Amino acid sequence: MKAEIIAVGTEILLGDILNSNARFIAQELARLGITCHYQTVVGDNYGRLLDTVTLAFSRADIVITSGGLGPTDDDITKEVMADYFGRKLELHEPTWEKILKYLEGRDYIAESNKKQAVIPEGAVVFENNNGLAAGCAIEQNGKTAVILPGPPNEIIPMFKESVRPYLEKKQEVTIISHELHLSGIGESAAAEAVEELMQKSTNPTIAPYAKNNEMLFRITARGKDSEECNAVIKPVIDEIYSRLGRYIYGNEEETLESAVMKDIISRNMTVATAESCTGGMVAARLINYPGASQAFINGMVTYTDESKHRLLGVSNDTLEKYGAVSPQTAEEMCLGVAKASGTDIGLSTTGIAGPGGGTKEKPVGLVYIGVAINGRVIVKKLLNKGSRERIRTASAAAVLELLRQELKKLED
Ligand code: ATP
Repeated sequence: MKAEIIAVGTEILLGDILNSNARFIAQELARLGITCHYQTVVGDNYGRLLDTVTLAFSRADIVITSGGLGPTDDDITKEVMADYFGRKLELHEPTWEKILKYLEGRDYIAESNKKQAVIPEGAVVFENNNGLAAGCAIEQNGKTAVILPGPPNEIIPMFKESVRPYLEKKQEVTIISHELHLSGIGESAAAEAVEELMQKSTNPTIAPYAKNNEMLFRITARGKDSEECNAVIKPVIDEIYSRLGRYIYGNEEETLESAVMKDIISRNMTVATAESCTGGMVAARLINYPGASQAFINGMVTYTDESKHRLLGVSNDTLEKYGAVSPQTAEEMCLGVAKASGTDIGLSTTGIAGPGGGTKEKPVGLVYIGVAINGRVIVKKLLNKGSRERIRTASAAAVLELLRQELKKLED
């Protein structure tokens, strides 16, 4: 079964917004084992959208659109799909009732609001629990259109709640995919460690992917049911764990920060951050975890020597003798923030993010990161490459990874 993705919206075409929906849908399709050869972006234009849909259906069995379900004249996705399949649009009463309830108390309800409650006749409706416009699917002559809203906070839950099970049912075989997330190792080194396994294994398949200073393996099996799929997946996952277990921080939707925060919380520990070149990125990642308040006490962005001294107690001697970008400063920063915040753990980053400011001895990309756990300190030197943004994000990821590794050692 082949699918195509069409993102509808002039603002995507103009580069005003990033097409993150296509990325999300593509990842979901890969997880479902549905092949996707093309993704397209098209503006809010009837003729061009109809052409795009026609071309997509000439190549694929399923076409998934995002966007263009709103109340305004330029929201035309349902109209185009209904015309393509020769269906009328009809009012979907439960959606219209929901919209009326949402608009309750307003003096005037625009007729255009009704647009969000119409669907092509005979379509399967996907309820929108986070917005007004319902999603839907039309099936005809072996072709399926899946029509979804644009806002990511609507399309993501709708896909997970309704579209994923809908597409799963369409598959003749059951396809199950598991992800293993790794940190602290590059894509090529990780792939090399399991290379012959990847070549030998056709069911499940093992695919490595690099992503934001991390990597993942997606292990996908085909079988008659989930039991059969999981039975072939388990020994492969066990084997990958036995070779690369120390780099695996989690599976499926786990993130590095959630793995670290869960570990800190389960140990009844607390954490504080002192950041220079990462400017709050480490704190922001830790706070991404919804239960962060149980363990995250505070984060300080100490960018100048003076603030490193005043807020963290980094000695003036250290700053003068070794400089702000030095292992000594990183050490005093993480110890200092833990002391000032009364936490078990202190994290620090200090480095040269560039593009200027580098010297022969201290080049752009030189970063020291520190982890203090109950007064014991580990400092690591990084030589990151790339843009300022890349150096900063890689440094934030590295300090989380160092903390993860050091917490694991506590068990030994
Ligand atoms: P609404 O009812 O809010 O108008 P809609 O389903 O008609 O929703 P659009 O109007 O196309 O969707 O887009 C609404 C917003 O959703 C956009 O302003 C943008 O922020 C976001 N959005 C739309 N398409 C995408 C996309 N492909 N990737 C990421 N975000 C998107």
